[in-house]
Amino acid sequence: MMYGGPVFDMARRQFELVADYLDIPVDERERLLLPKRSIAVSCPIHRDDGSTSVFQGFRVQHHLSLGPTKGGTRFDANVEIGEVAALAVWMSWKCALAGLPFGGAKGGVAVDPRTLSRRELEAVSRRYMQEMLPFVGPNIDIMAPDMGTNEQVMAWFMDTYSMHQGATVNEIVTGKPVHCGGTVGRREATGRGVAHLVAKAMQRIDLRPTGSTAIIQGFGNVGSVAAADLAERGVRIVGVSDKNTAYHDPAGFDVAALIAHVEQHGELAGYSRESRVDAAALLTMSCDILVPAATERVITEANAAQLRCRILAEAANGPTTPEADRILAERKGDLFIIPDILCNAGGVIVSYFEWVQDLQRYFWSAEQITASLRGALDRSFAAVTELADREGLSMRDAALAIGIQKVKNAKTTRGLFP
Ligand code: NAD
Repeated sequence: MMYGGPVFDMARRQFELVADYLDIPVDERERLLLPKRSIAVSCPIHRDDGSTSVFQGFRVQHHLSLGPTKGGTRFDANVEIGEVAALAVWMSWKCALAGLPFGGAKGGVAVDPRTLSRRELEAVSRRYMQEMLPFVGPNIDIMAPDMGTNEQVMAWFMDTYSMHQGATVNEIVTGKPVHCGGTVGRREATGRGVAHLVAKAMQRIDLRPTGSTAIIQGFGNVGSVAAADLAERGVRIVGVSDKNTAYHDPAGFDVAALIAHVEQHGELAGYSRESRVDAAALLTMSCDILVPAATERVITEANAAQLRCRILAEAANGPTTPEADRILAERKGDLFIIPDILCNAGGVIVSYFEWVQDLQRYFWSAEQITASLRGALDRSFAAVTELADREGLSMRDAALAIGIQKVKNAKTTRGLFP
């Protein structure tokens, strides 16, 4: 089995638990879980010093039963095929839960983008898309940003694909700049969606934004936008971190100043000396809302019992391991978890809007995007909480059950091609 490693193992164990609940016959499970296609490529580039480096790239297309596949592209030194496959699987359940006509996909290049010059980053981006040309397309597989990639990288992807086609093909990627066929609201969509769902969770547990506190792990696109949106709602942001630095201040941070600092320096380091704390300790500090917005497997059996938040809003994909889930389940009504495939779905929902607009060459207003995003998130939140309440399921199992059931229904009805 080529899909190994701790992250794919997590996706498999979550799936098996829910497959048991849904009574999915054992012989149908591999058809649902195992990716349809996985592509591994080598991306050679010229370095600025004249030498050549080769970076390994991947793309996993999980299932093709509901439409083209859709998913982000991650640039990170630790990217490996098992992780990419797990992220593709989660994308499938996420898209199905939100009612989008996509299977899940994910891609990645094993490179730390911070070690590249801008020219080298462009070279890796273009080379990766060049290598993927035979396997992607607006009706086959549509890419988007993820950790380590951004609007600029999406513009290079789109340009590389378009140069090959001989015409501009905006609909090949989402998360592009607005002036290159992107949509208003996409860059902010994931973080704003997180804040919107946190507000709904607060209503459920009778917590008011004013006077509440939040800690955000990861201060990139998702974490910084979620922090700013929560702050606008009156929540005090008492902790933030990125890969190298963690800060805590009970008085709360000026989020706009943090964002300005990161825009100027590329990271949180240097913002403050007196607020520095240990990054691992930040997750277990007291707060009302904990938002992991960085990477997988940060809430584990080692720290789950020490979490002191009331709401765990999973902005990152896969931040909580199944072992941690078991520990958190013991807190029953005392901790409200917004699981990743619901919590961060705002990104792919607005990506879907971007794809539709690009296909139609007709663009929506910011008001239309915001209202449609909120409507889609509200419907998913209502469906998940209703199933969780009715069946006594955790929010995670309820969200996964809805997504997995929808994919299963499509596969069963379409049948197995001989
Ligand atoms: P990003 O690259 O813009 O930011 C990532 C941030 O996390 C950076 O501040 C980085 O320093 C920090 N980080 C990385 N490893 C860390 C660690 N071990 N501890 C603390 N901080 C760490 O990425 P992003 O687009 O904001 O994505 C963040 C998460 O959200 C990822 O899990 C991604 O899969 C998920 N997500 C992103 C989107 C999107 O639209 N970008 C959509 C859905 C889910």
